[in-house]
Amino acid sequence: MRRRRKVKILATLGPSSSDKAKIKALGDAGADVFRINMSHTDHRTLRRLVNTIRSVESEGLRPIGILADLQGPKLRIGTFAGSGIDIAPGDILVLDSDPAPGNRQRVHLPHPEILAAVQPGHRLLLDDGKVRLTVTESDENKVTALVEAGTHLSDRKGVSVPDTTLAFSALTGKDRSDLEAALDAGVDWIALSFVQRPEDLAEVKKIARGQAAVMAKIEKPQAVERLDAIIDQADALMVARGDLGVEMPLERVPGIQKQITRAARRAGKPVVVATQMLESMITAPVPTRAEVSDVSTAVFEAADAVMLSAESASGSFPVEAVETMDRIAVEVERDPNYPNIVYSQRTEPEPTTADAISAGARQIAETLNLAAICCFTSSGATAMRTARERPLTPVISMSPVMSTARRLSIVWGLHCVAGEEPDALEDMIDHACQVATAEDIAEPGQRIIVTAGLPMGTPGATNMLRIAFIGTGGGDSLKE
Ligand code: PGA
Ligand code: MN
Repeated sequence: MRRRRKVKILATLGPSSSDKAKIKALGDAGADVFRINMSHTDHRTLRRLVNTIRSVESEGLRPIGILADLQGPKLRIGTFAGSGIDIAPGDILVLDSDPAPGNRQRVHLPHPEILAAVQPGHRLLLDDGKVRLTVTESDENKVTALVEAGTHLSDRKGVSVPDTTLAFSALTGKDRSDLEAALDAGVDWIALSFVQRPEDLAEVKKIARGQAAVMAKIEKPQAVERLDAIIDQADALMVARGDLGVEMPLERVPGIQKQITRAARRAGKPVVVATQMLESMITAPVPTRAEVSDVSTAVFEAADAVMLSAESASGSFPVEAVETMDRIAVEVERDPNYPNIVYSQRTEPEPTTADAISAGARQIAETLNLAAICCFTSSGATAMRTARERPLTPVISMSPVMSTARRLSIVWGLHCVAGEEPDALEDMIDHACQVATAEDIAEPGQRIIVTAGLPMGTPGATNMLRIAFIGTGGGDSLKE
């Protein structure tokens, strides 16, 4: 099925969307990639979901991407005797290594690495930022903190430490075992939560060994500070606005979203905008005006994808949420201001053959108003460089490797096709014309551009650009 938009939609699966009929309905409504949140999914469910998605995929025609999202070091306090404590600004609260139930004076913090790293002056944000503490004294067994804001604290609330760089990696023991299970199940993407350093990604990539691509979730100030080094290591980025809005002042999130999407576009790496995009649709069949505007901001920035979390995973209107995102995206991309806004953030090609050909292909296609750019890509690199150009012409990425096609399904504007790759140049051009016609993107009488690396199958060797005329038989007319 051909999408009528460039931006892709990621839908998180969960209790509202775990059977085959619902997953198919989400795909039909517009979901291009499914996200499995390992914070809430056991390994059996993971395998079942992957198999169900693959079975939906095999009955449709589009390759579908699957992203397994690792929980990362989500920190939490311990429990209280009773139902939590009331607090007020000016109170003193101790967080310590004692597992005994807490009271109004103290509570367990079961993370020795935070106790060791936190310094006086650092902030501790609890319960999504509803409780704010400032550390006054610290040693390796306890932290004494002044309550700055908040009224109540209960069992196992989340803790974030925006001022503290933690010495441990973003990969916990649970993440390692989830990662193995996800690679075994054959997912296409792994997302890593609470990345702080480029080394965090290197660790995951070493384990994944190319079986899945790795996405860095940007949700800590330390990651924003080292964004370029993280982009270098990552295969893709997520603007994880949920935790980012806890770790940093909320009003900074929109600016950081722009900074991350633009940096990712410059680097030619996919970027996903996530969290609370259509939040009210968890319980209502229609979104708020503000949410529609929020989705449209990401679409106007030409982010690669927009994401649904609880809206599709546990809400009452998962299919409606995907349909709503689809409608917003289609309309924004039709807006007369859209091309200029996207164009204003386009970056110069880098001095490589692949970039020169991608830039050339876009320019020729736009100048001659061609029906499509078809790029043969085995690793996916050439298709990503073509997408980096943000061409308004439809782009068909053709790969003989199914895992490449699935992985590319997250990338802006790529209509991914997996299948045979003819060896001879003329057969290839012919094949491209046939695919463009069969996929309903071009019709006889129109022209397309074909790019490829010759000889075929040499990754990263794109060196050929050809304009082909689609004959009445659907193939390249020069051959008829
Ligand atoms: P999460 O990540 O849903 O796994 O927390 C996204 C976010 O923090 O925005
Ligand atoms: Mn998060």
